[in-house]
Amino acid sequence: MWRYGGNTPCLDLTAPDGTRFVLDCGTGLRMLGNRWASTEGDRPLQAHVLVTHYHWDHIQGIPFFRPFYLPQNGFHFYSFQSKYLGRGSLRQVLEAQLARPYFPVDLSLMHAGREFSEITGGDQFEVNGTKVTARWLNHPQGCLGYRLETPAGTIVYATDNEPGIPEMDKNLRELAAGADVLINDAQCSPEQLASTRKGWGHSSWLEGVKLARECGVKNLVLFHHDPDSSDRVVDGYLYAARQEFPNTWAATDGMGIQLQDHHAEFKLRESRVGQRRPVHFSATVSGRSQDGVQFQEYAVLKELNVRGGYLWLSHSPQLQSQMNIRVDCGTSGHPNQIVLRASVVHCDVGRDKDRVGVGVTFIDDTEAALPLD
Ligand SMILES: [Zn+2]
Ligand SMILES: [Zn+2]
Repeated sequence: MWRYGGNTPCLDLTAPDGTRFVLDCGTGLRMLGNRWASTEGDRPLQAHVLVTHYHWDHIQGIPFFRPFYLPQNGFHFYSFQSKYLGRGSLRQVLEAQLARPYFPVDLSLMHAGREFSEITGGDQFEVNGTKVTARWLNHPQGCLGYRLETPAGTIVYATDNEPGIPEMDKNLRELAAGADVLINDAQCSPEQLASTRKGWGHSSWLEGVKLARECGVKNLVLFHHDPDSSDRVVDGYLYAARQEFPNTWAATDGMGIQLQDHHAEFKLRESRVGQRRPVHFSATVSGRSQDGVQFQEYAVLKELNVRGGYLWLSHSPQLQSQMNIRVDCGTSGHPNQIVLRASVVHCDVGRDKDRVGVGVTFIDDTEAALPLD
């Protein structure tokens, strides 16, 4: 989860006129609340919250969303009437999550204005110039897919859907038609989808690729990664999908998409975490350019981020203590030392009679380092 992240579904979308939408309320909602607090401060916020369905992974961020507790804010929620909950389903879900003993504070502290609209697959409505279309998708206990048409472009959010029911497949194709960005479920591998995961209500990268091709989609985003999929598994899905449909992306925590005149620009959150150090190493780089052509060139590596290391010591450091490690490297006239602050995470005692194998992770922020005793 280092690169793709591990939060459950939550997206925020700002239309060109500034109208805010939130799509689903998974654990990512907590991060969104923190981000709004840092960018908006105490300014009043209004947002339209579109919920696809009531499975935990799509609602469990609700109690942890700070803006819900501030009286100056207002939220308009949209979702469907569940046959298990009846009228006011979404309101009930919200109240139940804040009921005792599941959470320390109750609904009376949720001071933000709340409005609820019950919608259904087939509905279409407009919010300040953004056209929203909802359609039923094939998922246990129901799920809505959303298409949002803004003056800058069209985004389709189709998570939690499994192909194979003709009527629902048609719904999905209607939603996806000509979209600039299609965010589609890609939880399973095509093999799992055909066998062990059949009936789970999820899809694969291959289904996304077929859909994107058939419907004239410009960009495909693989979404709803399996919690058991490592970064490498997701890398594999993305690689396979790009062989068939080059404009494919894998959803990442904090990923941003800027749409302008129907052109999408993708941006990843800062993921070069760890100790960042200036270096001057010559390098040979081989890769693939945007048009798919392979290239190789010489370059200078200007900065290096390091996360951890392993070394032999004659001393035995205490587990969870900190050390300084000065590494000599580089070429003359350029930075030739890297000083790293490390936290001891592993000790191999007894493998070698004179030395201890020590595993360390490097600490992000030198200012946060504790004094050495
Ligand atoms: Zn679900
Ligand atoms: Zn889900």
